[in-house]
Amino acid sequence: MKHNISITKVTESGVKNLDFNNIPLGTTFTDHMFICDYNNGEWTNPRIEPLKAIPTHPAAMALHYGQAIFEGMKATKDADGNPIIFRADKNAARLNASADRMGMPHFPEDLFVEGLKALVSLERNWIPPSEGSALYLRPFMYADEAFIGMRAATSYKFIIMASPAQSLYSKRIKLWAEKQYIRAAQGGTGEAKAAGNYAAAIRPTELAKAKGYDQVLWLDAVERKYIQEVGTMNIFFKINGEFITPKRDGSILDGITRLSVIAILRDKGYEVTERAITINEIQEASKNGTLEEAFGTGTAVGIAYIQEIGVGDEVVHVSDESPVGLEVNNTLNAIKTGQTEDKFNWLITLK
Ligand code: PMP
Repeated sequence: MKHNISITKVTESGVKNLDFNNIPLGTTFTDHMFICDYNNGEWTNPRIEPLKAIPTHPAAMALHYGQAIFEGMKATKDADGNPIIFRADKNAARLNASADRMGMPHFPEDLFVEGLKALVSLERNWIPPSEGSALYLRPFMYADEAFIGMRAATSYKFIIMASPAQSLYSKRIKLWAEKQYIRAAQGGTGEAKAAGNYAAAIRPTELAKAKGYDQVLWLDAVERKYIQEVGTMNIFFKINGEFITPKRDGSILDGITRLSVIAILRDKGYEVTERAITINEIQEASKNGTLEEAFGTGTAVGIAYIQEIGVGDEVVHVSDESPVGLEVNNTLNAIKTGQTEDKFNWLITLK
């Protein structure tokens, strides 16, 4: 379906004030946003307009009952400077999976992709040129109906914002296996990219950082034994030549980098198994020398190599090098910048 997206442009772009070698992380936004309103059971008035604050009623339901979901994705450039968007269809589908769990309306997936394309095309000068940098895209939906009472809202906004981001320094990370707090339980909202999941993770992450760790390794809600994911990334282990990543059981996010890394690893001839894996198995593999490498996967950093895991008083050494992780990261970056054939058909390239 072709949608009619109206465009109101800023009179002067702010990009001329941006130093691409020194982009303040998370506080720099492009000139425009894509926005669409949901009222009376339908999405109306898709438009691109100058990014600005939106007046919020104090009873806006997202503020009280937490109907708020989001996505995270990136646009890059090919050698000719054409913008590239990575696997947009997957983000559109995941937003709607999150909407289902949170009792929110679906956003039409074709309009998601069209809005994204229109915004990225308009903001192409904001895509940082250097390798590893990208224009981070943040589609999100929240309940803006002013109502006090526990039910699904009847009005929502869907917005896409964009924020240029420099490549994040990929130092080897140290994880804290968290046994007191949990991120998600079976039947909960762990598989949804819901704002509340992140709120619940803030305090445990602060505590892990205070102990000298970089990220929390989340364990299952019942036994604190099965590994779920790490910080805001999915996780892969290489044990005895085989890659293992926790299988999706409703409590982990269906990461798009996870999916892509599974495809790339298999394409390179590695065996990848999606199954339940325990922290104890990792401790054993570290002790008997079969734990070869481990890494987190996510849009923000791509691949984050894991050095060690704190489990109570024990420090489990993972590895000092991640040769396959590095190889996969290079392949992923080469695909995202059009340096290698898009053989999985993951890219939208805007001319
Ligand atoms: N897990 C969580 C909790 C996340 O927030 C993210 C980031 N979206 C991921 C995993 C990785 O997902 P993706 O590869 O789609 O960025």
